[in-house]
Amino acid sequence: MTDNLQNSYLLDHYKSNSQKARIMSEAWVLKNGYCLACATECLAPTIANTRTKDFFCPTCHHGYELKSKQGSFGTRVVDGAYSAMIASIRNGRTPTFLLMEFSPGWFVKGLTAIHHSLITQDCIIARKPLGPLARRAGWTGCNIVLPSIAVEGRIPLVTNGKANERAIARNAFARLQFLDKLPANRRTWLATFMNLLRGLPGDNFSLQDAYGFEQILASLYPENNNIRPKIRQQLQVLRDAGVLRFVSRGNYQFIVKG
Ligand SMILES: [Zn+2]
Repeated sequence: MTDNLQNSYLLDHYKSNSQKARIMSEAWVLKNGYCLACATECLAPTIANTRTKDFFCPTCHHGYELKSKQGSFGTRVVDGAYSAMIASIRNGRTPTFLLMEFSPGWFVKGLTAIHHSLITQDCIIARKPLGPLARRAGWTGCNIVLPSIAVEGRIPLVTNGKANERAIARNAFARLQFLDKLPANRRTWLATFMNLLRGLPGDNFSLQDAYGFEQILASLYPENNNIRPKIRQQLQVLRDAGVLRFVSRGNYQFIVKG
């Protein structure tokens, strides 16, 4: 699965590294990609310039957006227009992201899938609008802040140049599919809550820790009142979904090690 991307004939016509990265990573996904949401062993390309989707599953139609980089992404992934990203989150149309990192010799060193349901508004920050002299003056792009996404939602597909087992990756993806089944407003609230909880150090936390996010949740979702009862109720939802366990009264533990 992790064969070298070096098909030099493909690269002859492209000069910039970002163009090369794009061409090579797309070719790689066409050859090696597979669906995480079902058992389909290939992905199909979407029509060029389809907004926010590069690939889709020909069986279940789950969408994927590919980002590739020579070197490491670090903590931020540069994405397209801020407004379009926020709209797709609100409408529940966010694709699963595939983050590909490769070596200077075009060898795929890492590939991480970001589960679509955990990409919430609070993980996206607007970049500085383009200046008045730019061709698209005022256009505002965005960054995805990777550490803001719960560790459960960052699923390694290739690590240190080696492909991980597809069954393990699909299981990790399936564990979060309970979010997908919720109506959009409930899903985004719970996904945000889960991301915030995962920002706490370690895998254990208390009810007081969870209550500590009351203000943030209130400001992100002003239409939701009675936040403390909702926090308690959503902790039960996370327990029933197998994301965390209740250790003792008011104490919780995430099942996946962070
Ligand atoms: Zn599928």
